Amino acid sequence: MLRARSGATYRFDPGALCLELLTTGGPGVYRHYEVLHQPADLVAWAERSRLEPTPELEVSDAEVSEARRLRDALFGVVLVHLRGEPYPGKELDVINAVAARPALAPAVGVDGERAWAGVSSGTQLLATVARDAVELLTGPFAHRIRACAADNCQLVYVDTSRPGRRRWCSMEHCGNLHKVRAIRARQSSASAADAADSTPGLGDREDGRQRQRRQRDGGREDQV
Ligand SMILES: [Zn+2]
Repeated sequence: MLRARSGATYRFDPGALCLELLTTGGPGVYRHYEVLHQPADLVAWAERSRLEPTPELEVSDAEVSEARRLRDALFGVVLVHLRGEPYPGKELDVINAVAARPALAPAVGVDGERAWAGVSSGTQLLATVARDAVELLTGPFAHRIRACAADNCQLVYVDTSRPGRRRWCSMEHCGNLHKVRAIRARQSSASAADAADSTPGLGDREDGRQRQRRQRDGGREDQV
């Protein structure tokens, strides 16, 4: 769950474990959103993440710093990926080094359910996240990594839907705001057209143009 400036909370599914880490803060201006300060914060992130089941973790302070370092490197690589530029070597080195460490070990629980072997370290958790990044960046959905289409939203997700037409971080949030704005724009152009109708000599022409604009907006909105 994320919190909007309005205070409303909304669900954001970035579609991949490694992208879920990007919601915890980031380099530069994203530092402002930092939530990984102490071991309990990384444990809480793992609970919120798509890891199933939640691994039992023992995390050190050094591993929290490492989590921030991995996240910032991943952030750098993803932003460059979105711009279609070559990957920065330094950031790739961080991701690859973390991915090379032992990851969370999967296990079969006594009840036959999926489990993780014993208590895992923060290092294992981060290795799993870094490997997920390697799979995402080199896999079939690499070209489906996108930033939300809203101007004031930088959330990054991978569109794994079959049609591949996802545009928003969340339909509940940016998708809805866009819809509301499109409806308002249509209403104000409709009332502008009404006002134009009462102006002698301008009415018909204005109205036709407004109608065209409405139809165009309507068509665009259907793609939401
Ligand atoms: Zn958004």
